[in-house]
Amino acid sequence: MAKQIQAVRGMNDCLPDQSPAWQYIEQGLRDLVAGYGYAEIRTPVVESTDLFKRSIGEVTDIVEKEMYTFDDRNGDSLTLRPEGTASCVRAGNQAGLLYNQEQRLWYIGPMFRHERPQKGRYRQFHQFGVELYGLSGADADAEVIQLTAKMWQDFGIADQVTLQLNSLGSNQARADYKDALVAFLTAHETQLDEDSKRRLHSNPLRVLDSKNPQTQALLVDAPKLSEYLDDDSQQHMTRLCELLDSLGIGYQINERLVRGLDYYNKTVFEWVTDALGAQGTVCAGGRYDGLVEQLGGKATTAVGFAMGMERLLLLLETLGKLNELPAPVDVYCMASGEECMAASMKLAQQLRSELAGVRIMQHLGGGNLKKQFKRADKSGARYALILGQQELADGVVGLKHLRNHDLPQEQVPLAEVATRLAAVMNETE
Ligand code: ATP
Ligand code: MG
Repeated sequence: MAKQIQAVRGMNDCLPDQSPAWQYIEQGLRDLVAGYGYAEIRTPVVESTDLFKRSIGEVTDIVEKEMYTFDDRNGDSLTLRPEGTASCVRAGNQAGLLYNQEQRLWYIGPMFRHERPQKGRYRQFHQFGVELYGLSGADADAEVIQLTAKMWQDFGIADQVTLQLNSLGSNQARADYKDALVAFLTAHETQLDEDSKRRLHSNPLRVLDSKNPQTQALLVDAPKLSEYLDDDSQQHMTRLCELLDSLGIGYQINERLVRGLDYYNKTVFEWVTDALGAQGTVCAGGRYDGLVEQLGGKATTAVGFAMGMERLLLLLETLGKLNELPAPVDVYCMASGEECMAASMKLAQQLRSELAGVRIMQHLGGGNLKKQFKRADKSGARYALILGQQELADGVVGLKHLRNHDLPQEQVPLAEVATRLAAVMNETE
């Protein structure tokens, strides 16, 4: 036998038994953003490598270790996108959508990072994200956070996630703080874990979110970012907190929250959960006022977030929120005997037109009624429509409730099937 080819490690198929859950969350997210008047943007999966180097930052985990980068046949260096924000800015700049305008955008799609695959961490994963351009006030940050809060409500998990909030300040404030932090850490370098020693020289702020307990203990006495905040950022943060308070959105200030990407300033936030072990961040974002200009556009302020769809799915699954998704079929059409097949297919087709949104599966492949009922049951359908020779001769069709066997089969005149089906479906909902 020929050897089977396997999927690339860390890149998953979405199999038919998983797609209802994906469709459920995708639909939920589409409805969510529609409720705020945001427009969808779709960008290519592949971009110039420079786009990510210039935006995410050369000394970040993503760019140093995680990107899928290759030369195409022309010798141009291309990269499978590891995140969505850089592409949004690139597309917005290219189409002239950003400067001096307001844009409320959202996207959904696959992202690629070469990480060690584990539960909640894959090499192809999916993000849903929102990007808001051209609004510099804290009200914009508040709306983006309000949208994420509604997302948890809509999925019924608001009590399982916590909002962490911090301000990274202006570039200048961060640079000043960086100097102070490096001076402090250098004085205690021997006490740092290996990762943090490396980061001390490449990306010192990332030392703040080291998971190492000894490093964490050391950081208690480190200088605080909040002590270096510029007035503008300080006011922005105060206003954002006021708005969140008024909106009834709870948060924790986490002074160590710095995010792994270089482009953030002022507000950064993460929604975290205890329900997923180490992969606790479900959704993360912040303000990135400098990125549009950094990527060659005219200065435009921006704020946004990205959410990992696999983590959301895992969370919903863990919390038992995906147990009652509707089966993909409502009605199963059977025909007993070859002669009735065309009539059954015709009936099914007519009902698909008359009953918008009702999902009708046609039995195919013949066989006796017992076999057909088995298939009907497996399909998840609630009703069967049975057409045999007698029914055909009488101009009727048998209607059977498959989930309540106490109800007898009804013989419904062909012309009334749609009306009757609509009525019984309504009753049992
Ligand atoms: P982490 O700290 O878990 O590595 P990150 O800081 O790299 O996350 P971001 O780049 O901010 O994550 O991406 C936003 C969200 O995308 C994360 O909060 C997470 O839910 C999801 N995510 C990131 N990397 C992966 C991955 N490899 N597999 C699945 N989901 C991911
Ligand atoms: Mg990561």
